[in-house]
Amino acid sequence: MQALFTRIWHVIASEQTRVFLWLVARQVIMTNMKRQRRHLTDTGICQVCKGGEESILHILRDCPAMFEIWSRFVPMAKQGEFFNTPLLGWLYENLGVHTEIGRYNWSTLFAITTWWGWKWRCWNVFGKTGKCRDRVKFLRDLAKETSEAHTKGRERGTAGVRVERHIVWTPPISGWFKVNTDAASKGNPGRALAGGVLRDEDGTWCGGFAINIGICSAPLAELWGIYYGLYMAWEKRVPRLIVEVDSEVVVSFFNAGINDSHPLSFLVRLCYGFFSRDWLIRVIHVYS
Ligand SMILES: [Zn+2]
Repeated sequence: MQALFTRIWHVIASEQTRVFLWLVARQVIMTNMKRQRRHLTDTGICQVCKGGEESILHILRDCPAMFEIWSRFVPMAKQGEFFNTPLLGWLYENLGVHTEIGRYNWSTLFAITTWWGWKWRCWNVFGKTGKCRDRVKFLRDLAKETSEAHTKGRERGTAGVRVERHIVWTPPISGWFKVNTDAASKGNPGRALAGGVLRDEDGTWCGGFAINIGICSAPLAELWGIYYGLYMAWEKRVPRLIVEVDSEVVVSFFNAGINDSHPLSFLVRLCYGFFSRDWLIRVIHVYS
């Protein structure tokens, strides 16, 4: 698993994409099969194609809309293996392929396609009229753009413009650690997940978490993610910590304070509890 996580954190893709892949590797993303096991639904069948059980691999690879896209990307001779490898092996193998295809690596196209496959599904846009051809072009262009931004970011150092800075995660300065959290909710309020990762100045993975928060609002999910991120870093005895937050609302809670009557004030105060301890913390707003 450690080798797989290393590949995930090194793939050239957006931070959100990597966090998503990490959640996939931990097998914590919600599927109908899982919902059925928890008695949240009475069928584990995929509601998009109704042609099979909705497992993680079904969502990301085997459901017809995705199958069609992958079939356009993967050479015929390799399709047998591609479509038959179990989840973790599938992630591991494909994230390790750095063959260049038209100005980007296969691993980049693979990561981006997986993430967008999930997003499109959550937006429920795979219909019978889904324009697959356009999606194929969209993904290829995005892979090219991401790779180019990555190369430019390297050439110019890490002080590039905003977009470049956030396509490529930048390590903290020497002696500091960085925690990145991400929360996703299906609807606002809706069923929410939060995940986070802690890394050191070399970008080495030092810890991570993924939690199922239940039904809540988007800022509440973000705050839970930050709270757990702080908790994890404190438990690991990190001396100096940068917390990257992509929600302006949440950053303003920390910088400008929050009224006691605000429904989220309890959680902001829980986070403040960590701020006042014997370590250095900086909260930084990043754009995603
Ligand atoms: Zn399906």
